[in-house]
Amino acid sequence: MEKLEQLYEGKAKKVFKTTEPEKFWIKYKDDATAFNGEKKGQIAGKGTLNNEISAIFLCLLKEKGVDNHFIKKISSTEQIVQQVEIIPIEVVVRNIAAGSLAKRLGWEEGKELPGTIVEFYYKNDELGDPLINNDHIAILGLALDSELVELRKQALKINEILKEYLFNKDIILVDFKLEFGKTPAGTIILADEISPDTCRFWDAHTKEKLDKDRFRRDLGNVEEAYQEILRRIGGSINV
Ligand code: UDP
Repeated sequence: MEKLEQLYEGKAKKVFKTTEPEKFWIKYKDDATAFNGEKKGQIAGKGTLNNEISAIFLCLLKEKGVDNHFIKKISSTEQIVQQVEIIPIEVVVRNIAAGSLAKRLGWEEGKELPGTIVEFYYKNDELGDPLINNDHIAILGLALDSELVELRKQALKINEILKEYLFNKDIILVDFKLEFGKTPAGTIILADEISPDTCRFWDAHTKEKLDKDRFRRDLGNVEEAYQEILRRIGGSINV
């Protein structure tokens, strides 16, 4: 398989076509952005770390029966994935109040939620990814009601798998964002990445943040936090 022209460049990854029509070539970048692109920077080694971390999580999910786009890692910063058409909805799952939820509802960050919250955001940079509900999604034509049921079901299953897996590594899964895509056959599968860029991970004992909040909030030791996540989930690259 060979890499062909670039299809898309996002904030953290580049996507290329390949000589195989149903496969994409993804390159993870060191670039970091926050606050809808207002804050920009680089996190040394992030491309390598997230490529490996995401591969580990996506493999784990596959083993546990959650189909997803991951096929194989081909270099330290690159992986091959199944071609999907991304559904422009960011699905956020929350176990503990943090970030925009804490702000919106005036809740203290760290408040344990009595139940899991699933939220939908419109994946639209120009609008700053606004929070939307089922009615907005229907009117915007982003997904069918039955597809939303499926997204929610898959998101909750992913939460249960990751929460338990991470708990055993002394990591609290606070919240995370998922993206789903449609295969050429029309099946909805998990896509994109699962990494400290897209999840909030706290140390179970010290509650230390081990994720992109260290970059967003200028807490320092960003790369070290990503490395710590990889170390705890048993990544094979040398960190
Ligand atoms: N998130 C993400 N991409 C986004 C927005 C959020 O990956 O464009 C993740 C974020 O890392 C966190 C979760 O989704 O794990 C919930 O984010 P939140 O709504 O609290 O927004 P933030 O505080 O990041 O602006």
